[in-house]
Amino acid sequence: MIELDINSLESWSGAKDRPLIIAGPCSAETEEQIMTVAKQLSEQHIDILRAGIWKPRTRPGAFEGIGEDGLKWMKQAKEETGLKIGTEVATPEHVELALKYGVDALWIGARTTVNPFSVQEIADSLQGVDVPVLIKNPINPDNGLWIGAIERVHRAGVRSIAAIHRGFSTYEKTKYRNKPMWQLAIELKRLMPNIPIINDPSHIGGKRDLVADICQRAMDMGLDGLMIESHPNPDEAWSDAAQQVTPDALGTILANLTIRKEAASADGSLDDLREQIDRVDKEILEAISERFKIVEEIGEYKRDNKITTLQMNRWDALLQDKISKANGLNLNDDFVKAIYQLIHKESVKRQSEIAENINA
Ligand code: PEP
Ligand code: MN
Repeated sequence: MIELDINSLESWSGAKDRPLIIAGPCSAETEEQIMTVAKQLSEQHIDILRAGIWKPRTRPGAFEGIGEDGLKWMKQAKEETGLKIGTEVATPEHVELALKYGVDALWIGARTTVNPFSVQEIADSLQGVDVPVLIKNPINPDNGLWIGAIERVHRAGVRSIAAIHRGFSTYEKTKYRNKPMWQLAIELKRLMPNIPIINDPSHIGGKRDLVADICQRAMDMGLDGLMIESHPNPDEAWSDAAQQVTPDALGTILANLTIRKEAASADGSLDDLREQIDRVDKEILEAISERFKIVEEIGEYKRDNKITTLQMNRWDALLQDKISKANGLNLNDDFVKAIYQLIHKESVKRQSEIAENINA
């Protein structure tokens, strides 16, 4: 466990017994857009207005952020609405400019957290500066990099630190833009118990329809806040159009959230543990269902290519592999073997049905 001396979220955000809410457009685009969204969001009880000023884009030629002008609009929005403002920084120059315009919270983006040199440069530029810093998880599922970035910022003397869980890039296609891999956020909480974790459902989901469910899931997991992309006219957004929601829609999402309180009593802790079990069970069932979808695709391939359903070598290798993995996971060999025998039996049954259905 890494015990860092960190200010409570409440001390820098004012959020007490409720999640911290950061909302705003992916990018600052125009003065009118920032002023409009700031006014609309100030009616939705958010804590910090976000907007990207410098945008790390995957391909050159895409919109790479409006730059310093955007900071002027953010400053104006802060003056007119009283909202705190936050933006992403990727270099010491960004830090300097953001501070010059009175930005209240800085965040380090996922593409920066992966690079310890960049994180160190930002940390060095934060020496002696008392500004909250939020650190997004790296794009790849590696908690070591995430923790390392938090440590670098902490060593620079920053005490108002939070982590942002924005999901992880995977080669495999999932319904998410960035797979949440909740277990990594939970592991971070276990290792660094006093680091608040803010969930970013927008970059996890990539689609606005997924945002509400991800927010609820984050609250069920006991995470400490949400960063949600919100734009007055999402479809016309210059970046991340598909995932942004209007301030009104954001209000509805927040109003419908069930916020769980930390259980204090012994009975409460039991409830908490049971909820964790229910969650894990749901994940197990979803994973098994996903597995069977793949099994069926393989079944079709085997049928079309006249390959036998049962491939003894593959089955044997698979079983050995699971048993050896089980050893490292504190699971009993026979138990894992029994589970896989059951799964395999069902897989063969499904593929046999597909093989028989030659007209499909
Ligand atoms: C963003 O917040 O707009 C952003 C670029 O996010 P991430 O660093 O999570 O990709
Ligand atoms: Mn974005």
